[in-house]
Amino acid sequence: MYKPTIAVVGRPNVGKSTLFNRIIGERKAIVEDTPGVTRDRLYATGDWLNYEFNVIDTGGIEIKDEPFQEQIKMQAEIAILEADVIMMIVNGREGVTNDDLFVARILQQSKKPVVLAVNKIDNFEMRSDIYEFYELGLGDPYPVSGSHGLGLGDVLDQAVEHFKNIETDVAEDDSVRVSLIGRPNVGKSSLVNAILGEERVIVSDVAGTTRDAIDTDYHYDGEHYKLVDTAGMRKRGKVYEATEKYSVLRANRAIERSDVVLVILDGEEGIIEQDKRIAGLAHEAGRAILIVVNKWDAVKKDDNTMKKFEDQVRQEFQFLDYAPVAFVSALKGSRLPTLFPLIRLANESHKKRVQSSTLNEVLVDSVSMNPTPTDKGRRLNIFYGTQVSVGPPTFVLFVNDVELMHFSYRRYLENQLRKAFDFTGSPIHIISRKRN
Ligand code: GDP
Ligand code: GDP
Repeated sequence: MYKPTIAVVGRPNVGKSTLFNRIIGERKAIVEDTPGVTRDRLYATGDWLNYEFNVIDTGGIEIKDEPFQEQIKMQAEIAILEADVIMMIVNGREGVTNDDLFVARILQQSKKPVVLAVNKIDNFEMRSDIYEFYELGLGDPYPVSGSHGLGLGDVLDQAVEHFKNIETDVAEDDSVRVSLIGRPNVGKSSLVNAILGEERVIVSDVAGTTRDAIDTDYHYDGEHYKLVDTAGMRKRGKVYEATEKYSVLRANRAIERSDVVLVILDGEEGIIEQDKRIAGLAHEAGRAILIVVNKWDAVKKDDNTMKKFEDQVRQEFQFLDYAPVAFVSALKGSRLPTLFPLIRLANESHKKRVQSSTLNEVLVDSVSMNPTPTDKGRRLNIFYGTQVSVGPPTFVLFVNDVELMHFSYRRYLENQLRKAFDFTGSPIHIISRKRN
């Protein structure tokens, strides 16, 4: 199912992040100990009237040292590129400002639907303050109060109304969705071009759709793949392409729509913190992952170079110990044929189902080789395990006391399952649950 996106725009201090937090509610991201991943709440999921959607707080994306007007222009442009519906926020206590008019003009030029929320209308008496905002030419202004949680329902009703006009008939087929993520300049678009052959990435927007994401079909060895968001790889030549927050946002959006994620690294420049953050997003989302070291042509090599680089990858990306590493050159087209067999393997792992009987044999053997931990005289007892889902494979173990399942023992069991079933390229989740 296609998940629509709302972007919140407006000048600083009108209440964008307050409203953003209201929209996403108390939804807390699953906290996981992934080194190098700090969460910022720039992009999250919300729902309203049975619609699930993404929300972007464009106010969180900044370019350093750019004048104020450039900043809000950039934020409006990102909203236009990424969103299906734009929510413009203004401050009802200040009235219409020149900056509001400036943003409104940019939004008007796009064909994206806009809903206009007049914030800081904290009580009923203030409602008459909203009428002057008709001047923005963005339709009816809606009074809201982010801090009091008032009026947001009407604005979301309006947004959801626009969702109904989006073509959501994303063809559900049997293709494996593959995306390439990585910081700017690691060679993502070059790689997509090299894989597809020539300049096929330069695709035009399909008329009639409001979505920017366009995928490209690819067949390999009798299987159907889709390279996700190849259109998004087009060079837009904008300053914000290079900002870290925007590149993280793009990575998030690509990950969300894929089965297998290729984390692209720059072999020439080596690994930096930003690579870890981006890889961490794919890991947290539970996607199948392949690490691809690009620009291998530009690296001075001896017999040991590849091994050394791989050791470094293992060291820096310990949380991705299940991901295979491939070395390629988009520029020379070399070693590209190594990619698809690995993509296929990772995808198979990601969708693998193991029989309960075999699973439980492995669990029994694992426990007899390495007895379960005890705490204050009580021993962990694993009664039974079952696989509850795929993509990634997720196992529920019924135990006497979940507190007794220590991290290190769970890790041990994960390794045993990996040895028995081979989940190369895929994370696996193990959840313990108390048997009643
Ligand atoms: P942003 O810069 O647009 O993201 O704005 P913030 O969400 O950070 O809010 C800016 C300031 O306005 C903060 O001090 C908020 O507490 C305040 N604020 C936000 N919403 C409301 C509201 O509905 N009423 C009032 N009175 N203040 C608000
Ligand atoms: P993106 O921002 O991740 O999409 O990166 P691009 O595909 O635009 O590539 C960034 C730069 O790296 C360009 O100048 C490319 O020519 C260069 N580049 C990409 N792949 C390779 C490669 O395999 N080897 C070398 N030497 N340069 C490459």
